[in-house]
Amino acid sequence: MNKKIVWLPAILALAAIAVLSVRQANLRPQSANRPNQLLVAASFYPLYFFASQIGGAKAMVANLTPNGAEPHDYEPTSQDMVLLANSRLLILNGGGFEAWAKNIEKNINPKTELVVASQGLIDQTTDPHTWLSPLLAQKIADRITQGFIKADPNNTGYYQTNAQILKNELADLDTVFRQGLSHCQKKEIITSHAAFGYLAQAYGLRQMPITGLSPEAEPSPKQLAEITKFARDNGVKYIFYENLASPKLAQTVAREIGAKILALNPLESLSPTELAQGKTYLTEMQNNLTNLRTALLCE
Ligand SMILES: [Zn+2]
Repeated sequence: MNKKIVWLPAILALAAIAVLSVRQANLRPQSANRPNQLLVAASFYPLYFFASQIGGAKAMVANLTPNGAEPHDYEPTSQDMVLLANSRLLILNGGGFEAWAKNIEKNINPKTELVVASQGLIDQTTDPHTWLSPLLAQKIADRITQGFIKADPNNTGYYQTNAQILKNELADLDTVFRQGLSHCQKKEIITSHAAFGYLAQAYGLRQMPITGLSPEAEPSPKQLAEITKFARDNGVKYIFYENLASPKLAQTVAREIGAKILALNPLESLSPTELAQGKTYLTEMQNNLTNLRTALLCE
């Protein structure tokens, strides 16, 4: 797992040409090819989105996980590692989400400012999915902002202004979630993988995941039977599936109890098509709220 990290010092020598190898598809289009921008690497979509909003025109932000790829088991390519070595700011989630980044502090360029965005926010044992709580997302935005300021103090005011706009949007998101989920007949959500623990905690919901903390963890027949029983006991009408995983298990449970399926996006990655349609963390969270309100029979 660490072999890519081990040879990182060797590729530092390639620094001069590395900027050319930034994966163009993951860059904000208006940011490409501008000199004097802060080169920022974020490990996956939500961190990339927050960093893009905060960095604005002063930063060139790259998403290390390709659009549409599942970040849980993503391993950076050698090209990514070159990019990473040249970044002035590296943003990771932490909490074991980036297994490849173990011991990263010892291996990155000393000039790279490292932000571990969810450090200290992970209170549900090993659950890394902090970004799905609009409350915790505001704290993540603060940490990323501090990283920008440390990496590029000359533009402190610029980053702070952008960060405030983002934080206002996240605070508004929290308000609409709080209001939208305050008068519901149900509070049980059956999700694809256990991504919505912090969201459930923030708005008084109860999550029953079909798979574990990672989408790859397959449930046993016994677990599936327990989920089906939970769904029946609680009169669950909708089973959630997610955009990047197969809806097969959700369909199986839904068929078993005569429920329907609905999408709930863990925002771990957006596909190139979704991005081309103008979807963002904010639009997809709004869509999540709409579907939660349908599933939980909210007024
Ligand atoms: Zn996840």
